[in-house]
Amino acid sequence: MNIFEKQKETQDKIKQALSNVKHLVAVGSGKGGVGKSTVAANLAISLAKLGFKVGLADVDIYGPSIPTLFNIENQEVAGREIEGKVYIEPIEKFGIKLMSIGFFVDNDKALIWRGPMASNTITQLISDTLWGELDYLIFDMPPGTGDIQLTISKDLPISGAIFVSTPQELAVADVRRAVNMFNNKDINVPILGLVENMAYFTPKELPDNKYYIFGKNGIKNLIDELNLELLEQIPITEDISQTNDSGNPISLDSDALETKHFMSLASKINKKLNK
Ligand code: ADP
Repeated sequence: MNIFEKQKETQDKIKQALSNVKHLVAVGSGKGGVGKSTVAANLAISLAKLGFKVGLADVDIYGPSIPTLFNIENQEVAGREIEGKVYIEPIEKFGIKLMSIGFFVDNDKALIWRGPMASNTITQLISDTLWGELDYLIFDMPPGTGDIQLTISKDLPISGAIFVSTPQELAVADVRRAVNMFNNKDINVPILGLVENMAYFTPKELPDNKYYIFGKNGIKNLIDELNLELLEQIPITEDISQTNDSGNPISLDSDALETKHFMSLASKINKKLNK
């Protein structure tokens, strides 16, 4: 089999596995640690709260966080044989079907994977998972613009991508590169917009006070330069950090102030993809 036939075979397998999934949404970022997984997890929960069937695929080989965010780190993944082939069952929590590369590798080992090996593992993970019927499958992507991001954006029918950035100028330079990759004419994945995470600090006891500790200009310059829509500005709060650490993402709490930001993000994305 030549390389083109091989690629076609991979694409066919993925198509088959995702045949009952309506929308695939990639959540990317220029660099790590900006809150991409936090946004992916809370977006998935918010879409589920809007009544959709949702899956979340954690393909961030550099630091899979979904097992921690959903407190399922030691969960065993079950296989199911169908017509002589073994498939994997996603783990279901809070009504969301979850699959993570973190279920299969140690955090420190995933880092050393290179190019084709990492890409093959990720495409296999996606095509071997029994996703079933879903309205949304959210991808928690690795940060930056490496082989996995290329593979996912080329081999998967991604409906749209969102980017997460913090307000610092440095992160902005990295996100510019990632946005340019998706915009590339060979990839051509629609960019739905940008989420500014840690946009400002709000103390719980003074919810109307906003402190722009990283400044306001970084994001403004970026959205102007790249002609991106600013979908949502998420504050940096103690509750987001604590709920992440305890494996109960903030959006599960309908009364939390932060939840309305993620719900609004979910509605916007849903509107954009069903126009
Ligand atoms: P990434 O996926 O980009 O590497 P994470 O979502 O894992 O980033 O977030 C990195 C760290 O920052 C985590 O400890 C997370 O709990 C914390 N964090 C992310 N967003 C917020 C926020 N808005 N407020 C407080 N802490 C946050």
